[in-house]
Amino acid sequence: MGVFVVRPVILISTDCDIESSDSLKLQADYVRAVYMAGGLPLVAVPPMECGDASEAAAELCSLARGLVLTGGSDILPCLFGEEPHPKLGAVNPIRDQFELALARAAMQADLPTLAICRGMQLLNVAAGGGLVQDIESCVPGAHAHRVAAPRWLPTHSVSVVQGSILRRVFGRDSIMVNSFHHQAVHPAAPGFEVAARAGDGIVEAIEKVGSRFMVGVQWHPEALAGRYPEALDLFREFLIAAQGVC
Ligand code: MN
Repeated sequence: MGVFVVRPVILISTDCDIESSDSLKLQADYVRAVYMAGGLPLVAVPPMECGDASEAAAELCSLARGLVLTGGSDILPCLFGEEPHPKLGAVNPIRDQFELALARAAMQADLPTLAICRGMQLLNVAAGGGLVQDIESCVPGAHAHRVAAPRWLPTHSVSVVQGSILRRVFGRDSIMVNSFHHQAVHPAAPGFEVAARAGDGIVEAIEKVGSRFMVGVQWHPEALAGRYPEALDLFREFLIAAQGVC
């Protein structure tokens, strides 16, 4: 018998195309980053129209020791109390409903959570915060945040807040990040603090105060990890927190 190393099970949320191909979608970078950081990825699939989203989400969270909320399209504005802005992109009510249930179950259980891009926005909405629906038209003077560049290319700097988990992970006040978003967190949800901002003031990271590890980043560390080893440090810190869950 060989040595069996128990990796913490990490849920990764998926996208689902309910319009054209009626299929589930997950970018493999998330799986690689979780596996490389020491986790065992478990794809968290919504029950589609065949089951209760909240029940499925709670059961999945009880199996896992961590949750990754992944990137993707816009969140339905009615979920944070707004009418749709003219620049609103594609929305997906099935994905929104399931991921909100995952985020709420994770918060209730203090399950370590790494929320990426849309995932951070979704976590913020799940906790009662709001969003800027379109940076370019709603935030005068903002720089480009939806950049036509390779996924692995850092294009703007962010200032990391003293005392945050991110500051501890990266060990400095400023880091370069990639940027593929047109929406942003604002305001941060009650119980959350801003952990990083771009030079134009756009929120680039949030953390839930007093949690084991509940961190949202607006950039895509999973896409940087192949070229910049330090991008994986955030996943490693997340896995350390996941290992502490019984
Ligand atoms: Mn950005």
